[in-house]
Amino acid sequence: MKKPFVTQQQIERITNEYPTPFHIYDEKGIRENARLLHKAFSWNKGFKEYFAVKATPNPFIMQILKEEGCGMDCSSYTELLLSDAAGIAGKDIMFSSNVTPPEDYLLAHKLGAVINLDDVTHIPFLEELCGIPETISCRFNPGGAFAIDNAIMDTPGEAKYGFTREQLTEGFKLLMSKGARNFGLHSFLASNTTANEYYPVLAQILFETAVELHRETGAKITFINLSGGVGIPYRPEQHKTDILTVGEGVRKAFESVLVPAGMEDVAIYTELGRFMLGPYGALITTAIHEKHIYKEYIGVDACAANLIRPAMYGAYHHITVLGKESEPCDHVYDITGGLCENNDKFAINRHLPEIQKGDFLYIHDTGAHGSAMGYNYNGKLRSAELLLREDGSVSLIRRAETPDDYFATFDFSGLFN
Ligand SMILES: *Cc1c(COP(=O)(O)O)cnc(C)c1O
Repeated sequence: MKKPFVTQQQIERITNEYPTPFHIYDEKGIRENARLLHKAFSWNKGFKEYFAVKATPNPFIMQILKEEGCGMDCSSYTELLLSDAAGIAGKDIMFSSNVTPPEDYLLAHKLGAVINLDDVTHIPFLEELCGIPETISCRFNPGGAFAIDNAIMDTPGEAKYGFTREQLTEGFKLLMSKGARNFGLHSFLASNTTANEYYPVLAQILFETAVELHRETGAKITFINLSGGVGIPYRPEQHKTDILTVGEGVRKAFESVLVPAGMEDVAIYTELGRFMLGPYGALITTAIHEKHIYKEYIGVDACAANLIRPAMYGAYHHITVLGKESEPCDHVYDITGGLCENNDKFAINRHLPEIQKGDFLYIHDTGAHGSAMGYNYNGKLRSAELLLREDGSVSLIRRAETPDDYFATFDFSGLFN
């Protein structure tokens, strides 16, 4: 059973001030989870989580994570500005970009961020722009298929990211010749993976590669970045990743590969997004219409512009009808938004309790890659983001867009001349 972190009564109170739809985040859940992650990796002296800003680009959320000891993983100019605005700069920013425009590297350099290069050709590109920093990281793509216990999780060989194995050796040598002293190694091989083995298997690959690179080039490797990809149980029958077991699995690989190679000072970094925020956010929407044609539809006041994952990937998001948690799920509905796109459905053939107009629907697990992926198709406006504080109070951490925001990028002076 998936349990909402707010009740119907709370949402009724909140909607007196803030109308639906809105995303709401749970500060208590975010902090407890961040502490558990740090506990899982407490065996590693230099451990640091760089929160993937793209998952939930809100400075109030970033501030909470900063207080819990996290840095920020950015991949664009605006994300860098956002980190800086939230008071997070210098080595507390990991800049893991790809297809990077020159101005992005220049800003990352200016803020003193750690730069994680996506490609060997970015070495001369960066050098020409601002020189090679002392500390630098490279992203590894081992190619082929990535498997855990013979089950294929993803196909890095088809992914646009990273250096090949040969390019890493070449790149490290080139970077050393240009003044780099401290090296990082990064890889992201599978997305939304709840298997406890993901990080340990990835860590084994990266640790072995780091030892080889150190032997081949003499480079001093100071950190290994396991990146993001740890998943969350979107479906009620899925198991949660046991992060303590994950941390222990990474420790074992560390002890068996890095320690014997004399590399026990290597720091472990992560760039988690979904795992840090996903379960601690929900989209609250009101049922505004019911429609009976060839199927039963419930129309809600949110749409794919507020949460695109179901429309984009057919992603499952669990739905709870608030106040009807213990009623039988004896109705079958498509839950739809109002975009002129038939894929604007939060759920298809979903078994739910009978829904009346005015009911609040709690769409689970929208804390990461939820509001962040919002857009303005059909003139729909992004909804507000609220934060449920630990003391039970609620703060508006981003107001809803208004038509003025939509119009802000037009200059009408040129239209009527
Ligand atoms: C998206 C991304 C992440 C975070 O991924 P999650 O699946 O949200 O954990 C981390 N690092 C990089 C480089 C990314 O692109």
